[in-house]
Amino acid sequence: MGVFDPVIELTKGLGETLRSFFFEPTVTVNYPEEKQPVRPRFRGRHVLKRYDNGLEKCIGCALCAAACPSDAIFVEAAENTDEKRYSPGERYASTYEINMMRCIYCGFCEDACPTEAIVLGDNYELSFVSREDAIYTKEQLLEVVADESMLTPRKTEKGVYTRSVPEMKNPADYERYERK
Ligand code: SF4
Ligand code: SF4
Repeated sequence: MGVFDPVIELTKGLGETLRSFFFEPTVTVNYPEEKQPVRPRFRGRHVLKRYDNGLEKCIGCALCAAACPSDAIFVEAAENTDEKRYSPGERYASTYEINMMRCIYCGFCEDACPTEAIVLGDNYELSFVSREDAIYTKEQLLEVVADESMLTPRKTEKGVYTRSVPEMKNPADYERYERK
């Protein structure tokens, strides 16, 4: 090995670094300032959806909790009244919690929900430093409303919101079930 060999190798290495810096496209992303879009079927943190009028879609039936293979969901229901209404129909979820340390993002809860209230969204920014913080509450999961008049609970017209599942869909309406 010659005296100058290390210098030559170092120069070659630096040359390669400079070449890729100036002449190759950047493939890294400056996260968290920049975020990559997720795939359409990505399953991220759950969202508890609302109807367009702000009422909560969740009716506290706990079918999602029953379907969850890792026992990650806890639901407690209470009674709606027209004076203090959270969701259409008789009941709403007074407590709704998901333990994200247990969740395996299988989507069974989403499939089991009769009102399409629980949806796995595109939020992947989940971090916590304690077991307590890993339990996401209803307040954290509920969709944000456009303005305060849409907040729940609120007073609603008598006898209007009598059905827990306002629009029952026929599975045959879905394209994937169509038989030609
Ligand atoms: S995605 Fe699967 S594991 Fe997670 S809460 Fe829903 S059913 Fe349970
Ligand atoms: S999210 Fe859906 S399945 Fe779960 S309690 Fe609410 S309405 Fe029932």
